[in-house]
Amino acid sequence: MGFHVYDTETKDFNEILTAEALSKKVYDTLNYYQKRCEMLAKANQELMDNALARADAQLKREIETLKERLSLCVTELASKKELNAYNAFVDEHQRCRSFSKHFQCQIPYVIQYGAGVGMISKVRCPICGEERDITDTEVW
Ligand SMILES: [Zn+2]
Repeated sequence: MGFHVYDTETKDFNEILTAEALSKKVYDTLNYYQKRCEMLAKANQELMDNALARADAQLKREIETLKERLSLCVTELASKKELNAYNAFVDEHQRCRSFSKHFQCQIPYVIQYGAGVGMISKVRCPICGEERDITDTEVW
């Protein structure tokens, strides 16, 4: 007494197995799919972990950039005149912001450095890269 088993290669029921051989074949097949499922689940988990880690790292970088730019934006400007010049620059570069689809700080930021007698303040647009010196030397 044997079992006819469909052979995927010959596409026919041409294999005759004993009950024991058939149960082993079924067991091996289930085992194979069980292992495949575990491998796929593990690979899927790794992909998700990597994607999360990448998203996390990306967000951390963006937060750092925002913090940095924010601190630059709120850097004490020397006078009301510098603040007005900064605000005028921001208004002019509003057009740049409408073109950028990137998730990033799009507000022009201030770069300051000492010039011996006072601080040089420059404002820079992070999108088009234009820079303008807004230093008010009258307060030096
Ligand atoms: Zn710009």
